[in-house]
Amino acid sequence: MGHTQAMVTAMQTHCDRCQAPLSRDAAYCESCGERTRRAKRLVRVAIRVEVLFVILVALVVIGFTYVFTIQHP
Ligand SMILES: [Zn+2]
Repeated sequence: MGHTQAMVTAMQTHCDRCQAPLSRDAAYCESCGERTRRAKRLVRVAIRVEVLFVILVALVVIGFTYVFTIQHP
C-alpha cells in the first residue's frame, strides 16, 4: 500500500467553502456540510459504477429476452 500513499499526498486538509479544518477521511465538512473533494470523487466513481451496472442489467435482460424468443417462437 506504499504506492497508494503517494497519491494521497494532495489530501485536502481544509474545507473549500469555509476553510474549516477537516478531520482525516472526512466526507463532509463538520462546519458547513460541504462535501470534501475526496467525497466528490467517490460520488463520481459511484455514479459511473451505477451507470455501468444499469447497462449490464439491460444487456442481460435483452440477452435473456432474445434467447427466450428464439427458444419459444
Ligand atoms: Zn466547510
